[in-house]
Formats: sequence, structure tokens, C-alpha cells
Amino acid sequence: MTTTVIAIDGYASTGKSTLSKQLAQHLGYTYMDTGYMFRAIGHFALQHNLVDKGVIDVAELEKALPGLQFSWKEGKEGQRQMAMNDSVYGEELRTSEISNLVSMVATIPAVRTHLLRQQRNLSKATSVVMDGRDIGTVVFPNAAHKFFLNAEPEIRAKRRYAEMQAKGIPASFEEVLANVIERDRMDSTRTIAPLAKAEDAIEIDTSTMDVKAVFQLLCDHIEGRVL
Ligand code: C5P
Repeated sequence: MTTTVIAIDGYASTGKSTLSKQLAQHLGYTYMDTGYMFRAIGHFALQHNLVDKGVIDVAELEKALPGLQFSWKEGKEGQRQMAMNDSVYGEELRTSEISNLVSMVATIPAVRTHLLRQQRNLSKATSVVMDGRDIGTVVFPNAAHKFFLNAEPEIRAKRRYAEMQAKGIPASFEEVLANVIERDRMDSTRTIAPLAKAEDAIEIDTSTMDVKAVFQLLCDHIEGRVL
């Protein structure tokens, strides 16, 4: 089966997941949230006491990686949901604790190698819209379409803070802003697969655009209304 990949990379809280979900639905593809995979591994590390005062026991985590397998599960409305070892996670992966840990998890070479393999495997079963940091550069450099989203840090933190408040996840605005800035720094400066725009990706600054406008622009590019 031939499948198609659309890559949506970019900075934290630029609207990647909302837009990727909408786009996947519009095209009849599956949404693949690669940040979820790094977060699920962070969650596993916390649950198994592999984090001490913010430091990850990398050797023990590496040993556990082969046992952490991702797969597609059918959700209530027939949509594909990603599971790690048959468990589908939700808001428990979006806590400040995990957000503060995840970019460190993402610097571990064995974690990246493990997830790269899983991401490529998962996309053999279905066409995907993938959101992440290194999809257009490393995971699928030949993706059919590549986008790179950006926005001012304060605007991104404001959006994320509002989202967390709506979901009842405790955090202060200052904390959210600091996390967004720190994650961007760590993600952009790591040695392996850093957050970067692929040369052939279309860059979109969403600072002054609402979701509807960005969605329209993505569709225009994909459906050939913009060259
Ligand atoms: O997209 P989300 O904010 O959930 O991603 C959480 C973290 O996972 C990012 O800040 C980054 O450190 C890591 N990540 C990554 N590569 C990806 C997706 C996420 O390094 N493809």
C-alpha cells in the first residue's frame, strides 16, 4: 500500500496539533502526534522512578525501550488513536511536569532511534499528517508536503495557557512562557535531529493568524491553489 506523509514541524504551541488534526480529517488521513510519543516515554520514566531531581537514568530507560511499542488502536468514532503498549494516553501527558522533562527525553539518541523506527512503521499502515520537530528534515525528508510553523513566544504561551486553563491543568502564565522558551532552546540546539525548518518546507508565522486562516493556507498549498 502506498501511503502519503504530510509533515508539520515547528516551535512549541504554534497550533501544529490542532491544524494537523483538522487537516488529517479533511484529507481522510490519520493524525500522528510525534510529541505524544516523546511525552509517553517521559511519563513511563516518571512512573518507573527513572527520574531523580530532574535527571533521567538514561541507562535504565534505554533498557526499557524495546518494551515500549507504539501501535494504532481504533477509537470510539472509528478513528485511529496512538497507543503505547496498548494504552492510549490523554491529558496526563500534558502536565507541566512532563512538559518540563520531555525535551530532555528527546535529546537521548536511543530514544530518537527507537521512535524514528516506530514513526516510519506506523505510517506504512495509513497516510498521515505528522506533527513534530524533525519530520521534514529527518523522519520523512521526502514527505509530499512540508510546513514549518512559527509565532512570537508570548503569543504561543498565551494560547497554551488558555488551553491549559480550559482543561483545568494547573500552571501560571510565567511558568508556561518559561517552558515554551526553554523547550524551543533545547529542541533547536540538540545535536541529533534538532528542531529546524527543512529547506523545502513552507514557513508560516501564525502570530497574527487564527486557526481557520492557517488551515485555509495549508489546504491551498496542498490542493495546488498556491505555487
Ligand atoms: O509537540 P509537543 O509539544 O507535544 O512535543 C513535546 C516535545 O517532544 C518537544 O518539545 C520536543 O522536545 C520533543 N519532540 C521531538 N521531536 C518530535 C516531536 C517532539 O523532539 N518529532
